[in-house]
Amino acid sequence: MKKDDPFLDPDHASDNAAVDTDVREQVGHDTIEAEVKDLERRVEEIDVALRKISKNQYGICERCKKYIPQARLKLIAEAAYDIDCEKKLRR
Ligand SMILES: [Zn+2]
Repeated sequence: MKKDDPFLDPDHASDNAAVDTDVREQVGHDTIEAEVKDLERRVEEIDVALRKISKNQYGICERCKKYIPQARLKLIAEAAYDIDCEKKLRR
């Protein structure tokens, strides 16, 4: 009886472990790829923000041309829009 129990079969156990590892590696890869894309987007936004500083346009909303509140810029230094415009654009 004991020989037929799949949980006691050493080969079965190692098969399961291999599948788990594959799934974890795949998820880890996707997460890293998404994070890299996120970072690349941020670098672009920071680059744009730096160019605005040199043109004296930093902190001005790209959509409505109003000043972006300091509190928002402290949180997101590279923000291109104030909160109202950001919400409208994301809809
Ligand atoms: Zn705006």
